[in-house]
Amino acid sequence: MQYFSTKNPSEKVSFQQAVRKGLPDDNGLYLPDQIPTLSEEFFQNLPNLSLGEIGWEVAKQFVENEIPEDNLKALVEDTLSFDIPLVEVEKDVYSLELFHGPTLAFKDVGARFMARCLGYFNQQNNRQVTVLAATSGDTGSAVANGFLGVEGVEVVLLYPKGKVSPFQEKQMTTLGQNIKAFEIDGSFDDCQRLVKTAFLDRDLSEQLGLTSANSINVARLIPQSFYYFYAYGQLIDKTDKPIVFSVPSGNFGNLTAGVFAQRMGLPIHHFVAATNVNDIVPNYLLTGDFLPKPSVQTISNAMDVGNPSNYARLHYLFNGSREEFANDMTGYSYTDEETKVALQQLNGLDYTGDPHGAIGYLGLKAYQQNHEVTGVFLETAHPIKFKEVVEPVLNTVLEVPASLQAFLDKQKVAMECGSEYEVFKEKLRNL
Ligand SMILES: *Cc1c(COP(=O)(O)O)cnc(C)c1O
Repeated sequence: MQYFSTKNPSEKVSFQQAVRKGLPDDNGLYLPDQIPTLSEEFFQNLPNLSLGEIGWEVAKQFVENEIPEDNLKALVEDTLSFDIPLVEVEKDVYSLELFHGPTLAFKDVGARFMARCLGYFNQQNNRQVTVLAATSGDTGSAVANGFLGVEGVEVVLLYPKGKVSPFQEKQMTTLGQNIKAFEIDGSFDDCQRLVKTAFLDRDLSEQLGLTSANSINVARLIPQSFYYFYAYGQLIDKTDKPIVFSVPSGNFGNLTAGVFAQRMGLPIHHFVAATNVNDIVPNYLLTGDFLPKPSVQTISNAMDVGNPSNYARLHYLFNGSREEFANDMTGYSYTDEETKVALQQLNGLDYTGDPHGAIGYLGLKAYQQNHEVTGVFLETAHPIKFKEVVEPVLNTVLEVPASLQAFLDKQKVAMECGSEYEVFKEKLRNL
């Protein structure tokens, strides 16, 4: 399998190169040069397969012989050392709980897979790499935990000061070892700009062996397709209706991975692209104009993205056609007030959601008003990660899982930095 840049489809690299580089030199994004379809037998057998077995089958298609099958199998099993249960919330509405990993958010899946792939490749050639990632919260904690202790990999995280939750901050800044954090005096978009500028800075990039762990890295994206198959396998005997997935989205990595699964042959009927008021993609689906703008802060802060990076991939996968795009997905966006009401509605159904999942739920319900479908919304984070929002809305106190309490008891270590590139670069060089 080869990977090409969305900006220059004739220039191809291996899976290993795509994982190492993260971002092509031309500032496009890597995509696999073909999306393989899986066998009929695989689909028939889906309800009987474990998450690890599904992951292995899917991963093999994208990695091929660059990682031997046995190593890949172990790597996938190790990545998915936690369950991803599908929970019925009400008739024809299911929550796919992606938050049972170590940092209690779905990004654990992609981060753990990518870390293990890089770890494998490093063992083979003893190279040092630096993973640079901008985060609005969950990416950082998942990447930090996924890469902790992986030989030959330094991790540097950038997060916007005062704009991530206290839990998220602790999960990024207390690990030590090969994990370093920059607290940037600016917005998430500033963090993302610093990272992009660093990648395009040839000297720095080569000196540090920079690679990305944002959802722009294909190794983050590929494993996120696994759970669409897994959810489908659990659902297929329970419904005769078409199945749709509602994906609460920010950079649209999760949704792009869903489109991968669909292109591999999984009969996903339709997607709902659900956002907060950072509605760039829903707006594009309506108007055909893709208009990035500065991000607006919301209570679903992991989706506060004003220029969704994976749009470039989706645009390519849908041949640059809004019609094709809109045929496959419908966009909805929601305010904080609506999100809070959804949290209460879910609570009334005996389900505790988080603000991101609640937006997925709202999108699904909106779509179901006019369509007879069975829907799955992705529940992307454990509600405790957003307790400052959830507790007052539900007028309750959530229990803190022991794994999280351990982070809270540790001391934060982060480097403060302004949002000018030259200042950041100097500090990064001297880490
Ligand atoms: C990152 C994140 C999202 C958005 O996912 P994308 O793949 O960037 O669209 C949604 N919810 C939570 C909790 C997240 O951490």
